Amino acid sequence: IVSRLPSVGTTVFTHMSMLAAQHGAVNLGQGFPDFACDARLVDAVTEAMRAGFNQYPMMTGVPALRQAIAAKIAATYGRQYDADTEITVTAGATQALTTAILCCVHPGDEVIIIEPAYDSYLPTVELAGGVPVLVQMTLTDACYAIPWDRIAAAVTPKTRLLVINTPHNPTGTVLRQADIDALSAIVQGTGILILADEVYEHMVYDGARHESMSRHAVLAARSFVVSSFGKTFHVTGWKIGYVAAPAPLMAEFRKVHQYNVFSTNAPMQHGIAAYMADPRPWRELPDFYQRKRDLFRTGLAASRFELLPADGTYFQCVRYGAISDLPEVAFAEWLAAEIKVAAIPVAPFYRGGVESRVVRFCFAKQDDTLRLALDRLARV
Ligand code: PMP
Ligand code: GLN
Repeated sequence: IVSRLPSVGTTVFTHMSMLAAQHGAVNLGQGFPDFACDARLVDAVTEAMRAGFNQYPMMTGVPALRQAIAAKIAATYGRQYDADTEITVTAGATQALTTAILCCVHPGDEVIIIEPAYDSYLPTVELAGGVPVLVQMTLTDACYAIPWDRIAAAVTPKTRLLVINTPHNPTGTVLRQADIDALSAIVQGTGILILADEVYEHMVYDGARHESMSRHAVLAARSFVVSSFGKTFHVTGWKIGYVAAPAPLMAEFRKVHQYNVFSTNAPMQHGIAAYMADPRPWRELPDFYQRKRDLFRTGLAASRFELLPADGTYFQCVRYGAISDLPEVAFAEWLAAEIKVAAIPVAPFYRGGVESRVVRFCFAKQDDTLRLALDRLARV
C-alpha cells in the first residue's frame, strides 16, 4: 500500500529497550519506573474487577473518576472543570493527544511543534493532513530555552494548534511565569488552540510550581490539557490518562474519541477513582523524584558527562562531547553495548535529527539501579 507515514520507523524507545535487553544493559532509556506501584492501587483495581466492573464503561469515562480528576485539577490549579462535559478518560496520554489533534486539525491547517518534540506529535499531525511548523528550542551551554519570538514569527492565519509540553520531554525544561506571559501574548485575540501535554505535571523540582494551562484563564479557554496516570502512579503499562478542555472543545474531542476507542478499561477507572480519594500519592511525587534526581546528578557530576538542568520530568539530559565524537544514536548504541547502560539519543526528537551530542537518561529507577548505572558511567 502507499504509506500514509513513509518516514516513520520503529520508535527510538523500542529500539533502545531492545538493545538494552540484548546487551544486558541497565535500562535508563525508555521512560518507565523499574519499581512497583503502590499495592493499594493494585488492590483497588482488583477489587473493582471482583465487584463486577468488567463491561463497557461510559464512553466519556467512569463518572467517579471524572469527578476525582476534576477535584484534583481544582485543588491543584484552581480551575473547576465540569466532570460531565469537560473531562474525558483516555487510553493513555497518547490517545488523548492523537484524538485532540484529529478533532481540530483540518487538512492544510498549521500546527506549531517545538523541537525537540515527543515523537507522537508530528506523525499524528501529518495523519490529520495538518502541516507541522517546527520551531527549535535554543540550546546554549547552560540550558534549553523556548524561543518565543520565533514561535510568534511562525504564527500565520493558518495556525490552528500549538503543542506545548511542560514539564518537557526530553529536556526537563519547565515553563515559568514569563513563558506563560509570552505564550498568552501570542495566542490572545487569535483562534489558535493549545494542545498541552502535561503528563509530567507532578514532577517539578526545587519548590517550583507546574504552570498548567488550566491555571491561566486565557490559556485554559483554548487548551486541551492532557495527563497520564501511567506517569503519576508508576503504571506506564496501564495506558490510562485523561484530557480536560472547555465544553465546546470537549464536545469535538468526544466525537472522535467515541470512534477512536469508544471507552477505556473499566476496572482500572473504578480502581483509580477509589485510590484518588487520597491526594498524597501525587503530592509526594516531587520530593520522591527530586531525591532520585539529586542522587543521579551527584553521581554523574563525578563523570565526564556534562549535566544540563533537570527542572522537571524524570529525565536528565547530558552532553557527552568530552567523551566521544560519535553522533547521538551511535553513541547511545555504543553506551548500551560496551558500557551496559542504555540512554535515549535526543536527535530523533527532531525531524531530520539535529545533532547536539546530548543523550537522555531516565532516573525513575530504584536507587540501586541508579547506583549500578552511575558506577558504569563514571568509568566512561
Ligand atoms: N507525552 C509525553 C511527553 C510522554 O513522555 C509520554 C510517555 N512517556 C506520553 C505523552 C504518553 O503517555 P501514555 O503512556 O500515557 O500514553
Ligand atoms: N514516553 C516514554 C519516553 O519518553 C516512552 C513511551 C514510548 O515508549 N512510546 O521514554
